[in-house]
Amino acid sequence: RWLRADIVPIRAGLLREGARTEAVLLSFIDLTPQRRVEQMRVDFVANASHELRTPLASLSGFIETLQGPARNDANARERFLKIMGEQARRMSRLIDDLLSLSRIELNAHLRPEAAVDLVAVVSHVRDALAPLGRERDVEIVFEHPAGAVEVRGDRDELIRVFENLVENALKYGGSGGRVEITILRERTDALVTVRDHGPGIAPEHVPRLTERFYRVDTAHSREQGGTGLGLAIVKHIVARHRGKLGIESVPGTGSTFSVRLPSGPVEQKKKPV
Ligand code: ADP
Repeated sequence: RWLRADIVPIRAGLLREGARTEAVLLSFIDLTPQRRVEQMRVDFVANASHELRTPLASLSGFIETLQGPARNDANARERFLKIMGEQARRMSRLIDDLLSLSRIELNAHLRPEAAVDLVAVVSHVRDALAPLGRERDVEIVFEHPAGAVEVRGDRDELIRVFENLVENALKYGGSGGRVEITILRERTDALVTVRDHGPGIAPEHVPRLTERFYRVDTAHSREQGGTGLGLAIVKHIVARHRGKLGIESVPGTGSTFSVRLPSGPVEQKKKPV
């Protein structure tokens, strides 16, 4: 450890008694944490640039082809314009996600405190994603307690969390199955789980899923319109709400993503007198 380049001396001194040297004092500082943050920042910029450059290169290629060889080919023009539209949407999704991430990070210290009903939030998400469910032939099942399950937070951010989780379950959970969303009221928490019965995720990937741009299968994620930032955004929003994100997955069986949020103590039902 002492030989590593990140441990650098910052001060040296001698403790003297008359002409005799009693001790030599050396102070060191460990720059490892700063270097790690610096490295993460450099990697993030490199990854973001690479992710933006890929659709941009494809757009430039199609523009050149449309100006040259395919200039008079109406069929090719139609097809190429469709792909170009998809690439432009991909860039715009990525920019939206990058901006969301930096906004959430910037506000990480602020606690969103509005009263939000999780049942209403998840119902909204289920309705918004119902067309994708039908497209994938996946049934979305939603179970929740009667009445509202209230937490303190930001409604739009919480919608974002469950949109990401349910959309992932629909995208990666395989077609023709079921996605189950459950809300449970626990003593001082609310617990929302999103379960799919897809191929699951190998254990070595699970701890890294919330890293920015981490994907198990990059090509498959891109094909599904993924940016690789969804779970990083989820993690940050959940942390800002003093919550916990849990990921459990059994390859071949499916995955369960859970979000635990503090909801305050559940009112004890008064015993009838
Ligand atoms: P993406 O935009 O690629 O979907 P996410 O951050 O949302 O990015 O997810 C990261 C990766 O985690 C995905 O690319 C996918 O490989 C994996 N993943 C997420 N949810 C699931 C799931 N329900 N089943 C299997 N793999 C999943």
